[in-house]
Order: sequence, then structure tokens, then C-alpha cells
Amino acid sequence: MIIVTKNDVTEQQIESIAEELSAKGLILQVNRGRQSCIIGLCGDVSCVDPGSITSKYDFVEQVLKVSEPYKKANRRFKPENTVIKIGDFEIGNPHRLALIAGPCSVESEEQICHIAENVKALGAKMLRGGAYKPRTSPYSFQGMETEGLFLLKEAHNKTGLPVISEITSPSHIEQFLDYVDVFQVGARNMQNFELLKELGKTNRPVLIKRGLANTMEELLMSAEYVMNGGNEQVILCERGIRTFEDATRNTLDISAVPMLKRMTHLPVVVDPSHSSGISWMVEPLAKAAVAAGADGLMIEVHNNPAAALCDGKQSITIEQFDILVEKLRVIAAVEGRTI
Ligand code: PEP
Ligand code: MN
Repeated sequence: MIIVTKNDVTEQQIESIAEELSAKGLILQVNRGRQSCIIGLCGDVSCVDPGSITSKYDFVEQVLKVSEPYKKANRRFKPENTVIKIGDFEIGNPHRLALIAGPCSVESEEQICHIAENVKALGAKMLRGGAYKPRTSPYSFQGMETEGLFLLKEAHNKTGLPVISEITSPSHIEQFLDYVDVFQVGARNMQNFELLKELGKTNRPVLIKRGLANTMEELLMSAEYVMNGGNEQVILCERGIRTFEDATRNTLDISAVPMLKRMTHLPVVVDPSHSSGISWMVEPLAKAAVAAGADGLMIEVHNNPAAALCDGKQSITIEQFDILVEKLRVIAAVEGRTI
């Protein structure tokens, strides 16, 4: 349920209604616009009678039922885009396109620092690199774990780039806080609710990747878990879903970009690398994502894809990243955006 106030509502008036509703056990999300204010109500709203609210409080314009199960992530609760600041760059800013790039996995100090320096010079604003890898086979490379996190920090110290890395267990949160700027929740852990609840207690941004067979609403409910814990800095990532088509690793659901942007105020990024699983397809999918309105892209870049320990087939080279970024600048400019 949302309560929309009339223009020029005072803080005192908002406090008076907030007091009554909080006493009913509801959680309030107050979003002040330029003039009016939207008060979102989370919890059991059956105790709220819209008629008596409008008659009791003359500064209330209307009371609307929100049928969607996601509340805090709902654009109806907060019409303006959420802009998340990470270091000195922003994600969700409609005038900017955020580029996140780096290898699938951290493999060595030389590798991660070399890639970090190069992608930074070409326009990337955040470095990606997996330290804990959720692999289909237990016999595949599992990531460098703690050592990988340490090397990401080294790359950050050398370049100033903030870093994002995948977290697979709530027990790693403490350790990650020392090394990582953004938590990545992978597709396979999108509905690891215990992990999401614990990340909700931190004050670090969380990027949640859409699960292999999850709907947009389910993705938003995962965001809701983090937000409900008090951490509202959530970024959503479309990374392709499983369909009957097997020519590509996954199927990029490009329509998820405009649809999610309408459903939620949270930033939406696209990962064209896992979407296709094929390096030559990263460019067309990345271009499509920008044209469709994505707030950013997360791209796997490797200095030597043929020798990569993970996801080499979908990794582009630094040279290919260079060419891609120049093309993305042109597409972004069509919508008045810069990298
Ligand atoms: C990754 O980003 O390397 C990764 C494992 O992605 P996903 O969770 O989307 O498969
Ligand atoms: Mn990968």
C-alpha cells in the first residue's frame, strides 16, 4: 500500500501519520519528492483502512493498494531511479553508462593487475573477478579463494578501481568486507535466502544476478530480501536465462531491461558474457543492452582467453574490449549518456 500526500506536506504531518502506522507494526518507507511525499507500507496492511486515512489526515491525496509482492524495490514506492555510489562513480545515473569489466576468475597478481590497468584506461569503472567460483563440476577450478580476494585488493590499490566479487556463503561476509566494494550474488545463489538476509545487514552494495530459471518478479523478491534487512543498495543483473535454445549458453532476455526498469527503481545491468557464452557475441549483445536502456554492463575480459582457467570461450581480449567501448560510446550518446 502507498500513501501519496498533497504538495507541501510538512515533516510534522508525515511524522504524525508515520507514528500511527508504525504502531500497527508496519514498516514505512518514506520517499520525499520535490513537493509531495510517497509513504510505502510494508507488512500486513489489512489493518489499514484507506477511507479512514484520507478522512483523518487532510494532507493525504490518495491511498493506493500495491498488488505486487515486491514493495521496497517497487517503482510505485519510489518513482525516482536509485543511484548507487561506489567510490567516485555512480550506477543508476540516467546520464551515465557504468562499465564493469575483468576476468571471470582471479588467476594471479600479474593477470588481475594487468587486466585492471588496461580496462581502467579504456573506460571501465569497476573491476570484476571471481575468487570463489560456483562451478558445475567439483573437479573444475574453484577459484583462488582468500588469495584471490587479496589480489583483487592489490589491483584496487594499484588502479583505484572498486572491485566486485561473487560471494557464495554467509560465512564469507566478514572476510569480503575487507577486500570487496560490491558483493555479487551469482545466478545459482539468487534464492539463497540466508545469504540475502545476511547481506541485508551490511551497508555495502549487492549485485544480484538473475537465476537460470527465475522470473523477473522472483529476482525482485530476492532484492526485497536484501532491502528488507535495511540495505537498499541493490543492483540487478540480467545474465541470460535457460530456454530450449542451445546454440547459446543462455538466452539473453533483452526485454527484461525495459520491463525491470519499469517495475523497479533499482539499477539494471546486463552481463552479455554469460548470456551468450561466446566471445564474438558479446559485442552485439552489449550494444543491444545499451540500446534497451541498461544502466551498465558487466563484461568478462581476459588477457589470454585461450588460457583462462574459467569461461575463456566467452571472454573477450583487451583489444576487443577497446573496440567495443568505442562503439558503446556512440550508442550511449543516442540516449544522451556517457561512459
Ligand atoms: C560469473 O559472473 O562469473 C558467474 C559465475 O556468473 P553467473 O552467476 O551469472 O553464472
Ligand atoms: Mn564467468
